Amino acid sequence: MGDYIRIIPIATEQSSSELDYLALKADRGPVDTLLDHLHRPLHDLRISVTDRCNLRCIYCMPREVFDKDHAYLPRTELLTFEEIERLARIFIRWGVKKIRLTGGEPLLRHGVEQLIEKLARLQTPTGKPVEVALTTNGALLARKAQSLKDAGLSRVTVSLDGLSDATFQRMSGSQLAVATILKGIAAAQAAGLGPIKVNMVIKRGVNEHEIVPMAEHFRHSGVVLRFIEFMDVGTSNGWRMDDVVSAREILERISGQYPIEPLDPNYSGEVAQRWRYADGAGEMGVIAAVTQAFCHECSRARLSTDGKLYTCLFAGAGMDLRTPLRQQDSGLVLSHLIAHAWSHRTDQYSQQRHMVTSAAIHSKKIEMSYIGG
Ligand code: SAM
Ligand code: SF4
Ligand code: SF4
Repeated sequence: MGDYIRIIPIATEQSSSELDYLALKADRGPVDTLLDHLHRPLHDLRISVTDRCNLRCIYCMPREVFDKDHAYLPRTELLTFEEIERLARIFIRWGVKKIRLTGGEPLLRHGVEQLIEKLARLQTPTGKPVEVALTTNGALLARKAQSLKDAGLSRVTVSLDGLSDATFQRMSGSQLAVATILKGIAAAQAAGLGPIKVNMVIKRGVNEHEIVPMAEHFRHSGVVLRFIEFMDVGTSNGWRMDDVVSAREILERISGQYPIEPLDPNYSGEVAQRWRYADGAGEMGVIAAVTQAFCHECSRARLSTDGKLYTCLFAGAGMDLRTPLRQQDSGLVLSHLIAHAWSHRTDQYSQQRHMVTSAAIHSKKIEMSYIGG
């Protein structure tokens, strides 16, 4: 990237973000669509705001690996809220319409509401508000739902992998009660953070017996339950194909109990396949990330806790944006770096998984808790 001019802003009353905005506006005029090598646009940005978590889900941060000696990122390595906002503005100039805060557990990031306030004020170049959503394990949601809403959050997705305490505790590697998460979901509904989605990862032999009870629980509730195939993200979770319960099997189990009908996607590139209960009890979905990969429509970029840009959940390395941010590079430099990363993107890991050797599946990949789900 040495061919880009480094512009050092002169002392001014204007913030870096404002200077970036003016420079980008002058540089690009109306925004063109940024496409990658496979003609996929950049629409979504996931931002991991912490690599820490208060749970130890067996498929994400298994306790054997993420034990008390695990070294988390020191505070100075985390992007500040101002740095995140600055990058978000540039991503939005390149087409991002939705931002999702994730982690680790995003509600553990001190003052996350202040970040939400900053992001919720941002607009697309055509003047539309950017949607700011958040994915949480729900443990702290009951006490935070209202302040999140007040800060401008649009929606939450809550992860919950079982309805019985025994199953939930086994999946989450914790002693937490399911009732705590359900209270969080109820508080989010009451605060107007809906339509709420609940993510349930299914791992063979651990929680597939709770597929139908979970469906039953969330029917008629307005909550959209989504079943997720267990993915080979990271290297800690000991993933094996045998542990995956396919979306097809999940749908068979549900339709054996409640007739369901397919729904059209809400938008192109939606990762969940939508279904509705034929008796009018509401909507549910499946995310078949392993057995029916959707790379051809993948429009997501991910920003790690320490400011690296990843263009795939399964990437081995990301582009460092924190260094240029901290050495006061201009918005144009950052903008060109982002455009370079996206336009050179060829990622389609899930679609090629069947061609990937077992050694590659188990090779060093970035952990979900660092890059954000
Ligand atoms: N801590 C928050 C939570 O659990 O919702 C946000 C971060 S978590 C990494 C985001 C999502 O990724 C969760 O819904 C989680 O269930 C999902 N996830 C994590 N590891 C996964 C895996 N190996 N396969 C499928 N989904 C996974
Ligand atoms: Fe934590 Fe979420 Fe990973 Fe579970 S899935 S360990 S709650 S980051
Ligand atoms: Fe997108 Fe990579 Fe997942 Fe494919 S494997 S859908 S490219 S994140």
